[in-house]
Amino acid sequence: MINNLFDSYGDDSEIRRQRHLARELRHSQWWKRRCAKGICQYCGARVAPRELTMDHIVPLSRGGKSAKGNVAAACKPCNTHKKQLLPMEWETYLEKIKAET
Ligand SMILES: [Zn+2]
Repeated sequence: MINNLFDSYGDDSEIRRQRHLARELRHSQWWKRRCAKGICQYCGARVAPRELTMDHIVPLSRGGKSAKGNVAAACKPCNTHKKQLLPMEWETYLEKIKAET
């Protein structure tokens, strides 16, 4: 049911618009400063700034926006995990990380 609700946001032109906004956000000083810290927002790992990728916390395909509140600097392992895992499994992964730190 929840998926159906989100799917109503999922029209292609809106996703294209959000992808364009993401590209602009990636070039912003705000994002560069965030990456300069070299810390993954998910697992807290220290990585080289260029190793950090922009991740949408709520994916664009789920109606997420390319806004400051919805993007995170993620290391490659976290980014790969997030793509591979179901949203539920990703939540479990994050909880596990928090419990360990
Ligand atoms: Zn990470």
